[in-house]
Amino acid sequence: MSQKIDGQLIKTDRTKNHPLEQSPSVESQFSRVVEHSDWHEVTRSHQEKTQQDVLKALAKDKLTVDDFTALISPAAEPYLLDMVAKSEALTKQRFGNTLSLFAPLYLSNTCANECTYCGFSMSNAIKRLTLDEAQIKKEVAAIKGKGFDHILLVTGETKRVSMPYFERMLPLIKPSFSQLSMEVQPLEADEYQRLKNIGLDAVLVYQETYRRQTYLEHHLRGNKSNFNHRLDAPDRIGQAGLHKIGLGVLLGLEDWRTDSIMMAHHLRHLQKHYWRSRFSVAFPRIRPCEGGIQPKSVISDRQLIQLIAAWRLFDRDLEMSLSTRESAEFRHHAIRMGFTTMSAESKTQPGGYADDAEVALEQFEISDERSVQEIAEMIRSQGKEVVWKDWDPSLSGL
Ligand code: SF4
Repeated sequence: MSQKIDGQLIKTDRTKNHPLEQSPSVESQFSRVVEHSDWHEVTRSHQEKTQQDVLKALAKDKLTVDDFTALISPAAEPYLLDMVAKSEALTKQRFGNTLSLFAPLYLSNTCANECTYCGFSMSNAIKRLTLDEAQIKKEVAAIKGKGFDHILLVTGETKRVSMPYFERMLPLIKPSFSQLSMEVQPLEADEYQRLKNIGLDAVLVYQETYRRQTYLEHHLRGNKSNFNHRLDAPDRIGQAGLHKIGLGVLLGLEDWRTDSIMMAHHLRHLQKHYWRSRFSVAFPRIRPCEGGIQPKSVISDRQLIQLIAAWRLFDRDLEMSLSTRESAEFRHHAIRMGFTTMSAESKTQPGGYADDAEVALEQFEISDERSVQEIAEMIRSQGKEVVWKDWDPSLSGL
């Protein structure tokens, strides 16, 4: 049995309330929504959109997931310029003429998982490094020296870099930055709460793909192969009351349109249950890495621009982030469209800022290798102002 929810065909069981109708609890975690969804029906939904559906979505102020589906469909391609113009205007209206810069700090490249697309995978014969207190202090000083006030901590997924490590290292790092985000292994709600108490502001957990079968083909070993545990991590972050929750799919693992529609459902689910949190999305595309794979569904530059504009039209308050995985040329043209944050001069190897460690330790190749000064200059040349922090806990009385 299927029914339309927010304009999308989702399989339902009439003996139960639909998960989207329930209060935040284990019962309402997003994995239940995915269990009841039919990947092929969602794929058909974007294939069947018409130009009439696109025009209807473009004329609306408040968009449903079904409208978002129309905007990312092939039928919307002739309307790209209209979408971009509207996306630019909405972003300017909501966020002003600013773009905030952050730096990722890779604390460890040890990992007990095997992901087909990642240079840190357990079986890759690379030098492993987990930064200790002294090394972290050097990295923090180097990043502060470049002017950053927002830092994203990144690690592989292993017991060595779990709660005891985080609880030792966060108090060392937090005093130097206004905003502290993390992209690490999924944790439990009480663990997120403990990290929030020592200064954590935001957590990013990218689902990579919402199609279980494809997910299992790319996550071969380790805790990350538990699809539901990762899928429900944003619910646990919301339950812990974190200020910001970040979502993302690895564009190219699966049909990028279907994955994006599932992520739009995920966003609406989280917004309904954890309305005090802010939300961000990112747009990583598969990049070459050691032992890398070819994308199953290639997203062109033009299609990526369409996707970015569609997200902005779908949600005016959404923070949207662009990483150094993208080329300098693409970032140059894309920054006006809808982005609110951008990484700059990223080093994806632990110790890379202070010691310029070997490139062989990197998680993926950086495409935009310009210095932070060059990137700040490029942003200003586009008529935008560079912001080094976009939020301070004192503003919300936390
Ligand atoms: S993607 Fe994350 S979990 Fe997978 S191998 Fe890389 S660092 Fe480990």
